Amino acid sequence: STFTHHFNTAAYKGTVAVPLGLYINGEFVDPVENGTLDVHNPSTGKIVTSIAAGTKADIDIAARAAKKAFKTSWGLKVPGAQRGKLMAKLAELMEKHIEEFAALDALTNGKAFKTAYGRDLKGAISVMQYYAGWADKITGKTIETNENKMAYTRHEPIGVVGQIIPWNVPMFSLSLKIAPALATGNTIVLKPSELTPLSALLFCTLIAEAGFPPGVINIVNGYGATAGQAISESLIIEKVAFTGSTLTGRKIMEAAAKSNLKPVTLELGGKSPNVIFDDADLDQAVKWAIHGIYFNHGQNCSAGSRIFIQAGIYDEFLRQFTEQALALKVGDPFDPSTFQGPQVSKTQFERIMGYISSGKSDGATVHIGGNRIGEEGYFIQPTIFTDCTSNMKIVREEIFGPVACVMKFTTEEEAIEQANDTSYGLAASVFTKDIDRAIRFAHALEAGTAWINCANQTEISLPFGGFKQSGIGRELSEYALENYTNVKAVHVNI
Ligand code: NAD
Repeated sequence: STFTHHFNTAAYKGTVAVPLGLYINGEFVDPVENGTLDVHNPSTGKIVTSIAAGTKADIDIAARAAKKAFKTSWGLKVPGAQRGKLMAKLAELMEKHIEEFAALDALTNGKAFKTAYGRDLKGAISVMQYYAGWADKITGKTIETNENKMAYTRHEPIGVVGQIIPWNVPMFSLSLKIAPALATGNTIVLKPSELTPLSALLFCTLIAEAGFPPGVINIVNGYGATAGQAISESLIIEKVAFTGSTLTGRKIMEAAAKSNLKPVTLELGGKSPNVIFDDADLDQAVKWAIHGIYFNHGQNCSAGSRIFIQAGIYDEFLRQFTEQALALKVGDPFDPSTFQGPQVSKTQFERIMGYISSGKSDGATVHIGGNRIGEEGYFIQPTIFTDCTSNMKIVREEIFGPVACVMKFTTEEEAIEQANDTSYGLAASVFTKDIDRAIRFAHALEAGTAWINCANQTEISLPFGGFKQSGIGRELSEYALENYTNVKAVHVNI
């Protein structure tokens, strides 16, 4: 069975059709227990379709198919150059269908079509191309020991890897997970988010066309507590890579520890600080602060959700920041002028509104926003809280919505202390024209990424990941290859 959607919008006109089954061993199949899951349109709250949902039994079948493929038609059986060629072909096919991918993600995630197209999909394709280039460049070292011996290391694929992704950047996350695992020779069982599964189904239709042998990439839609949990508990899957909340990350690590002690890579939440000194270029600082918190509706793990302003520019920064936040256009994802669409789901909408209520009752001031927009769908006004203190829930917990907490500081020491006063450590920004201070501050930040005079940026060639409770391991760049290889030392007596 297939889901066919006719888009007739300002941003995209066309028909997209996707199969609804689980993609296992190179074909679309029905789930063993005939489970389904409903996919919603967050702009209306209505169901758009119902797709196949896998459970433990399906994960098991997929893992076995992946294991067989690893032993017979992938892994070290296939030269890196050949793996890279198939990945480059896959990137080419993704490019061919870029508008359809973007339309499906805008429909189910609610993000602006232009963001899905220009950021998520362009990014996903570049990531696939980047790692296609790495596939024949996985090298070990020769290491001197003593004169009677030679020794070298090999970076071997792990085997079957399990990957679990969230909904905020669906196709970018998928590519970020799949590409380095394929380049290093692993086979894959991936579970998309139950909120945004349609673009992954379109992706499945391209895998065989790109030339991948059956079983190399398996994609099983389903819920976290069933299919997701089964990936972490599987005895066949030898590694799990996850992006999502810190709460789920803990469960995955626990299940991995209790099953076969599979290693984990975790990309988790954040509560990133954005620190703006008196001497910053104010126009730039305001522009980046807006992008930092409101891009993708605040649904970014690295969103600059805690904004610390030095006292001398506090009033002027707040004035300009407010003016620009009020000008952000919230509306239909398929309207080309839209910056912000609805939040992804009813649950997320209620969670964010709950945080806004908690901010008010804890004594923070709603400077602007704080309300729902319209009667249907999950639209929320870009919101700014002032009078925030470090013990408030809105300052401590990740909201994952368009809600900024603005605070004032006086000294550099105070700023670094407040910036680091969080259990998270994903990313952080600092704005200043003083080069010494910029670098001193960047080095003092407890975060996997430090941005100087910019915010919320990723580069394919730079590692991305968390300190503290924001995660384990790094994605993107050469560093991500380490997530998917076992290092073997070979001793040769001469
Ligand atoms: P989530 O943790 O609820 O879900 C993420 C994925 O995990 C989904 O596919 C879900 O089905 C699955 N899952 C849920 N319970 C599971 C379980 N018990 N076992 C295995 N899998 C399970 O997160 P979400 O709400 O979809 O995403 C938002 C969160 O993700 C935010 O906290 C955000 O910060 C984080 N995030 C982090 C990054 C990063 O790179 N660090 C990127 C995007 C999102």
